[in-house]
Amino acid sequence: MAFEGLADRLQNTLQKIRGKGKVTEADVKEMMREVRLALLEADVNFRVVKDFIKRVTERSVGQEVLKSLTPGQQVVKVVHDELTTLLGGEQSKIAVNNRPPTVIMMVGLQGAGKTTTTGKLANHLRKKHNRKPLLVAADIYRPAAIKQLETVGGQLNLPVFSLGDQVSPVEIAKQAIAKAKEEHHDYVIIDTAGRLHIDEELMDELQKVKEISNPNEIFLVVDAMTGQDAVNVAESFNEQLGLTGVVLTKLDGDTRGGAALSIKAVTDLPIKFVGMGEKMDALEPFHPDRMSSRILG
Ligand code: GDP
Repeated sequence: MAFEGLADRLQNTLQKIRGKGKVTEADVKEMMREVRLALLEADVNFRVVKDFIKRVTERSVGQEVLKSLTPGQQVVKVVHDELTTLLGGEQSKIAVNNRPPTVIMMVGLQGAGKTTTTGKLANHLRKKHNRKPLLVAADIYRPAAIKQLETVGGQLNLPVFSLGDQVSPVEIAKQAIAKAKEEHHDYVIIDTAGRLHIDEELMDELQKVKEISNPNEIFLVVDAMTGQDAVNVAESFNEQLGLTGVVLTKLDGDTRGGAALSIKAVTDLPIKFVGMGEKMDALEPFHPDRMSSRILG
């Protein structure tokens, strides 16, 4: 399971301080040394760790103690609150268009889980919000990408718009949105092309798809298992394209958690959803406070 090592270490560390009736500056310092190591070992960006430790220390030393909590519990609460803030604070919901359809562009590197997540997101919108999404197959370069999305659509009994692989993604996006308006789809989810590495050609094309489709959201799909690489990928895509949010996939694997814990702080992009498996229902809206509770036990 994701975060297992980190969760174990943090829980052990906090356990030591939780019961204390009196917390000295030295206690806090010692605890923070251990928290710092645990975060670094979980592959959290070192600048993020540094800031985090600074904030928790400031708030823990010389704090006003709430009557309802022991000083030890109070420190644990500070760690929890700061971890929640680090993960994005409030849950970030999908921005919807006043005049449907709401357009969501899915971008990311090949293998991150883009096509799968496109299907999962459509399934989520239909099941939880009773929406009528149209899936758009605009990845014309990866062999079998169109077929894969059609298969996903077939499984979910949702329509997939495709014009084959000889029409440009820009044209596909344009026609798909026109069709969505005609047929009263309230969401259009565009599965775009990914490459193994970020390159100029890919970005140029994605920018053109963005211009024509004027999306309400541009979600970067990143594989949580790639750790700091996921953060770097998010920074590049954001610079070039202006993202609105991130979907972290494969959080069901044994990722150390570095990506999840660094991405908001480094890029200021909210994590909107997390992928928790290969199945179509394995997508969850991301709740920073719940994730924080899960990690801290
Ligand atoms: P794309 O190239 O970005 O479109 O990636 P795909 O959607 O084809 O996904 C690549 C692989 O990752 C597939 O085998 C998916 O089943 C798998 N995958 C996607 N999301 C998740 C997830 O949240 N958890 C797990 N375990 N596997 C995932």
